Amino acid sequence: MALPSPLRRLFDYLPATTPPLEGWQVGLRVSVPFGRREVVGVIVELASHSELPKEQLKCVHNVLDDTPLPADWLWLCRFTARYYQHSLGDTLANAMPARLRQGHPMAGRTLTLWKRSPSAAEQHDFGRAHRQAALWELLGQHPNGLASRVISAHGFTQDTLSRLAQKGLIISTTQVLTAAAPARTQQSLANPALPLNREQAVTLAALHEKLDDFHPCLLEGVTGSGKTEVYLQLIDAVVSKGRQALVLIPEIGLTPQTLARFRQRFNVPVLALHSGLTDPERLDVWEAAAAGRALIIIGTRSAIFTPLARPGVIIVDEEHDGSYKQQDGLRYHARDLAIARAHHHRIPVLLGSATPSLESLQQALQGSYRHLTLTQRASRHAPARLELTDLRHQPCRGGLLPGTVKAIKKTLEAGKQVLVFINRRGFAPTLACHACGWVAECHQCDARMTLHRQPPLLACHHCDARRMLPPACPECASGDLRALGSGTERTEETLQGLFPKTLIHRIDRDSTRRKDSFEQIMKDVSRGDPCLLVGTQMLAKGHHLPHVTLVVVINADGGLYAADFRALEHSAQLLEQVAGRAGRAADPGRVLVQTLHPDDPHLNQLAEHGYAALARHLLTERRSAQLPPFSFMALLRVESPQVDAATQLATHAAQQVRDWLETQPIQVRCLGPIPAPMERRQNRYHLHVMLSANKRSHLHQAASFLVNWLENNREARRVRWSLDIDPQTL
Ligand code: ADP
Ligand code: ZN
Ligand code: ZN
Repeated sequence: MALPSPLRRLFDYLPATTPPLEGWQVGLRVSVPFGRREVVGVIVELASHSELPKEQLKCVHNVLDDTPLPADWLWLCRFTARYYQHSLGDTLANAMPARLRQGHPMAGRTLTLWKRSPSAAEQHDFGRAHRQAALWELLGQHPNGLASRVISAHGFTQDTLSRLAQKGLIISTTQVLTAAAPARTQQSLANPALPLNREQAVTLAALHEKLDDFHPCLLEGVTGSGKTEVYLQLIDAVVSKGRQALVLIPEIGLTPQTLARFRQRFNVPVLALHSGLTDPERLDVWEAAAAGRALIIIGTRSAIFTPLARPGVIIVDEEHDGSYKQQDGLRYHARDLAIARAHHHRIPVLLGSATPSLESLQQALQGSYRHLTLTQRASRHAPARLELTDLRHQPCRGGLLPGTVKAIKKTLEAGKQVLVFINRRGFAPTLACHACGWVAECHQCDARMTLHRQPPLLACHHCDARRMLPPACPECASGDLRALGSGTERTEETLQGLFPKTLIHRIDRDSTRRKDSFEQIMKDVSRGDPCLLVGTQMLAKGHHLPHVTLVVVINADGGLYAADFRALEHSAQLLEQVAGRAGRAADPGRVLVQTLHPDDPHLNQLAEHGYAALARHLLTERRSAQLPPFSFMALLRVESPQVDAATQLATHAAQQVRDWLETQPIQVRCLGPIPAPMERRQNRYHLHVMLSANKRSHLHQAASFLVNWLENNREARRVRWSLDIDPQTL
């Protein structure tokens, strides 16, 4: 039995006195006593004996399902648990809809029908087995079969049913409840497909070549090159064969346009899994997908755990996006699971991005994935190059260079829209005393508090701490407290001062907290009146903003010199994506990038040759440094309110791994413990131990040893720890 527990083991139970009608099967949910609680578990193995003495075994209380959970889903959960070294029970609980986790019944995904066996004679002498005779009679009246539920409603028991089955008199068939076969070919389209340009046509033809086998493809297409159109036509081909398409996108709330485009195109329902759904609605989608009734399913990260009766293709849009990696609990990567799943189902999987992750790009370059490219925009204008502008030694107004202001003015006067990107919300990242140098810091983290004006307060962006603004410096009582640097609020204020007549939309997590406010702003903007958009990376994600012709990046330097080796890749992706918002329609675009490091070689390569070139260069750097994707990593995170406890466990764990590695014929490096980049967060101390290896199998052996050691170590029970396979951030 797999139970929702962090322990990486299974639990033995005795069968309940009344067995389910179809007998005990792997994949049935049951409720069982666990400690002092009653929990929902899943049968994952049937055993004839237990290592525990019978007196110690408890009984299953209730069987919750008539039919097992979908087999493809169970397979995925097992794979995920094994790959991420996570408890199977916890993985299953994470991957199932909340309603099922809470023990609610399924609405009826499959139906098992019992009927008389065609080879059995009409008449039988049942002797004194009257119930068997009665059931035999009943089934005689229903030549098409009766559902188990109906049979039990007639008062028959599993026992009677199985005796008849043992005698070979009756047989069962399981029917998956599906809707009528989907309309074929053209009828799945509500709106005609666009005529493809040459590159799109070549790409689609390549995808068509292999629709019935595992076929991993990377579609590297510049922003606005029509990737979505390729997805739509690929899905059409799959759906026309009566197969299902699963589409993963980073954030539905931020890209309502994508969903709308899917819905407009197809006649068949496009089911979306998003945070706005109620739990019962979510379960409905899950069951419809499991039964094959839903043909097109779109969702974010967790949608990878949607069961599919007839899988046809998996598409991962913006495959580089960080949101595909779950950052706590079960730390899976939906893109990587998509590959594993497609391999299991023997179906194509398409990863699309203008800025592919170095992991996927390397796979494509070395030929493990098919590499498809779209180099031209549908709108004919090549994506604008980045123009670097030097922030040093120049008078700046609220972080804006005079040249930048001039360019904004010109664009607005031409009746166009401007997007100003600043990757920081709030008014200013630092509040400092000009007299003594004091800065406002979070009491719980090794971090500064961000100054907010709307409403006025100090907030820590790493924990949820908030404080009132101090009227004067708490150290020296000086009243000269100054806001240093800018965030979205300050940039908005500066721009409003410079362009008092222009409408400004600020877009960040604070300004869009209200439901639909983001969508509303996007709707206003799409009307095309000149305006300024000021916002964080929320603006970078896949929007089509046809009237934006100028993009301004307030400061490009965030990821240039960061401790995390992936920071550069991520900030290059972000810059390219932001830049890609400019000039997507009739007019060409311009992208101004302000920087303190105009000579930085990476930034210059990005500016002159684009992300594709920089990414290939970064790969050579990764290769020579033996970093992913040329090696594989697992990160042990240890945290505790007591720095000593955390240090002790991390040190001990690292030592154990090193000692063990000495005895093993595998090559794994063990680094640490080292303090996390932000050691103290929310009053807890964080330490890392990093394992890395050139062979994935070696890494997994070491990770498995480590997890085992930790799980059986007393000391580890008092300290929080987690193991992150393929960590994306440090
Ligand atoms: P991407 O997903 O690569 O960013 P999109 O699929 O959103 O690109 O396409 C960008 C724009 O180009 C959209 O407005 C889309 O309707 C248009 N487009 C895409 N393909 C074609 C085509 N073959 N003919 C005309 N317009 C196209
Ligand atoms: Zn002071
Ligand atoms: Zn904090």
